[in-house]
Amino acid sequence: MQVAHWSRVEWDCGRWPHFSAHELACHCCGEMCIWPEALDAIEALRRAPASPLAITSGHRCAIHNARVGGAPLSLHKQLAFDVALAGHDPAQFAHAAHACGFRGFGYGQSFLHLDTRAKPARWFYGNRSKAKWASLGIF
Ligand SMILES: [Zn+2]
Repeated sequence: MQVAHWSRVEWDCGRWPHFSAHELACHCCGEMCIWPEALDAIEALRRAPASPLAITSGHRCAIHNARVGGAPLSLHKQLAFDVALAGHDPAQFAHAAHACGFRGFGYGQSFLHLDTRAKPARWFYGNRSKAKWASLGIF
């Protein structure tokens, strides 16, 4: 994985044409991490019928991650995606993300956290998000 300011990372426009390093970089300092597997997965999801995607958080530097209350070992410090659920059918969207290779799923009320960790994991952000997703028949 390559970590640098978004203007200096090696961005493959042919491989990830629907995104830019800038939009996925840390909101506070512009640091970006190139994790090809994660980028391939989000590009595949963007090409699925679920698109377009509004990504509210991609890479976070350590300081920014702490400031927004991210978990100390959050994969946002490498590369993960919080995708807004507005305009999507949440259940279909989660299924599509799974099919595109994502293995880490954080189920929020208004967003879905996605990452390509090695070992599958899923979690909720409080009881209200758990109730929302349960009502959709996901679990
Ligand atoms: Zn930062």
